[in-house]
Amino acid sequence: MTNEPAFYNFIGNIHFMKSYLSYYYHALIDLIYPKLCVGCGTSLLANEQEVCKMCFRKLPLTGYENVPTDNAAARQLWGRGHFEQVITMYHFDKGKIVRQLIHSFKYRNNQSLAELLGRKAGLLLKEKGGFAYDIIMPVPLHPHKRALRGYNQCELIAKGLSEVLGVEMQKDNLHRSSFTSTQTKKGRYDRWENVKDVFALTDSSLIQNKHILLVDDVLTTGATIEACLQALTAKGEVRVSVFALASV
Ligand SMILES: [Zn+2]
Repeated sequence: MTNEPAFYNFIGNIHFMKSYLSYYYHALIDLIYPKLCVGCGTSLLANEQEVCKMCFRKLPLTGYENVPTDNAAARQLWGRGHFEQVITMYHFDKGKIVRQLIHSFKYRNNQSLAELLGRKAGLLLKEKGGFAYDIIMPVPLHPHKRALRGYNQCELIAKGLSEVLGVEMQKDNLHRSSFTSTQTKKGRYDRWENVKDVFALTDSSLIQNKHILLVDDVLTTGATIEACLQALTAKGEVRVSVFALASV
């Protein structure tokens, strides 16, 4: 017969030892490779993630969540179709920290930073209140880019927003469709031009009569957003709002 209490005690001790060792292992790793702030490079405190409190305070917030239908980013999209709301969190050009953050999650594999910034943005919208979306959708990356990078940074931002706002994320419904009939006759650049902004929905029934929040990393010319809007509204009634972490 097994001595059950002793057995569970033994298992409990193993779990305790494992978490004990894991704690010291991570403390040791942090000692050898301290986590540094993406903005200023100083060592992060235990309660800081990715960016130190000083740098977070310096981020140039747009305040566009207070005027979601009429702000500089919304005006950038005027003439490109109807958007319910356009909200961007930070000014891309004011100060270098925003650019450093974006560079870090776009080109240096800092996936947790993209998610963190998505959650921060979600908290800001939640605190402000009055933002009711049915579905959150990331702007899809071109499949080549996605394969090279290994992830879609817009999807990570969208994931953070989705978690905090408690809104469903549909990450694969909207996708880039690279089908064109005459590609082989074209040069490499023309081929790229031909496919770069072609979007399609896998299942348009999943978004009927819904309010969609389309999530991008940086809003620049708005051409990509316009192409997404065309795909989203091609087969039915939907309302579309836009969120981007930064705008120029
Ligand atoms: Zn810092």
